[in-house]
Amino acid sequence: MITGHPHVGVTGTFVGMPAFPAAAREALGDTTLRRNLKHATSVIRGKRASVVGELDDWEQLRDAAEAIKNRTLRHLDHYLEQFEANATAAGAVVHWARDAEEANRTVVDLVRAAGAEEVVKVKSMATQEIELNEALAAAGIDAWETDLAELIVQLGEDWPSHILVPAIHRNRTEVRDIFLRRMKEVGRPAPGDLTDEPARLAEAARLHLREKFLRAEVGISGANFAIAETGGLVVVESEGNGRMCLTLPKTLISVVGIEKILPTFDDLEVFLQVLPRSSTGERENPYTSLWTGPAGDGDGPEAVHIVLLDNHRTDVLADEVGRSALRCIRCSACLNVCPVYERVGGHSYGSVYPGPIGAVLTPQLRGTSSAVDASLPYASTLCGACFDACPVKIPIPDLLVHLRTRVVDEARGDVPKPEAVAMKGAAWMFGSSGRLGAAQRAATLGGRVLRNRENLGRLPGPMRGWSAERDTPVPPTETFRQWWAREHDGGDGR
Ligand code: SF4
Repeated sequence: MITGHPHVGVTGTFVGMPAFPAAAREALGDTTLRRNLKHATSVIRGKRASVVGELDDWEQLRDAAEAIKNRTLRHLDHYLEQFEANATAAGAVVHWARDAEEANRTVVDLVRAAGAEEVVKVKSMATQEIELNEALAAAGIDAWETDLAELIVQLGEDWPSHILVPAIHRNRTEVRDIFLRRMKEVGRPAPGDLTDEPARLAEAARLHLREKFLRAEVGISGANFAIAETGGLVVVESEGNGRMCLTLPKTLISVVGIEKILPTFDDLEVFLQVLPRSSTGERENPYTSLWTGPAGDGDGPEAVHIVLLDNHRTDVLADEVGRSALRCIRCSACLNVCPVYERVGGHSYGSVYPGPIGAVLTPQLRGTSSAVDASLPYASTLCGACFDACPVKIPIPDLLVHLRTRVVDEARGDVPKPEAVAMKGAAWMFGSSGRLGAAQRAATLGGRVLRNRENLGRLPGPMRGWSAERDTPVPPTETFRQWWAREHDGGDGR
């Protein structure tokens, strides 16, 4: 039995992972990793730029995608209930899961009820987020990843390092070695003369997976979109493995984050244009599977279950600034353009959601109490390339700053910020001309004592950092009011 990501604990955190700065420093020292990442991200970046450049209305498409997602999130309760009603009417069984534990328990119970001891899986970020493979393994159920990159990660007992290309950190030779070493332990072995040619590697994976597809009684998927108007689900993919999982097993279970809802079927028109162009740099994705309940004629699964997953998404929704992260369609464009991601890779983020979107989504879903999660909002230069690339216009740099504020506020507890105390004091002083005059006269005392110095140099306490890069002038020996009175009124201004 293999579980996928053996180092991932059951608590929803990558147990033992260091915070981002330490993990990034280590990754930066791995020249093979940096070479693999640079090559892969620059190829995908180039393809995306070329297909996006073909469309005159790309910016309008981004605006439309943002508007549809915002409308959905504003009325999410309504659309979820509409989805449940329509999916149920079409013969699917809808389950609601408050958190990862509930979702995993539901799926394990359904697999057991189907009498299965193994499942085949379509690539799904939601099931990675809830660590479903580990929960299934604990229940004695084998979960076989069937996406090629996920298969490489699973056989390599590795972590995914990219949303779309989880094995982006592996080169062909490493993949061949993993196939030769591990396939024989869990099914059909790789051919002994396997080379690192892509076609030979794909053939080995196809043959290895084929027997699993034909044997499995249960398929598990996520969904790219859930259509409220029809109660249907949509999965887009490149390899066709997903189509096999969605159609061959008798029972199909889909774990779907509640933010995946789209109000109408027509909304797909926008998203099926922006998603493939942003993710794989294709005009259209090769396989788009849509289903609405079981067909009931022996074609496709006989039982269709949909697990609607919250797992802190409603907490994210409650944050007026942070909620825009729920617009994400997991295209990975922000990862591929990020100068930080390109150099450190996905593992440094300590989460199934790496890169810029991971830096804003993970701390919202998991909170910022651990060192890893508190470090993520700082895993960015705030250059803004992620926002420019995002097809649903998530203002990731704004969210990073928002979350940095949260991290600082939480670290400080109930103690007020020094700035807040200083501003309150300033407001009190400026509120009265008498108090302002007294404060100015007090400052001139310091000016007279220090009149021989050019500046005050480095200040102590909280002003230390501020004065490190700036000259701090010596206070004047008289105030403006004193000067005015001396020059114009003949008095000393006191
Ligand atoms: S944040 Fe935007 S660019 Fe990044 S994965 Fe999500 S939708 Fe794609």
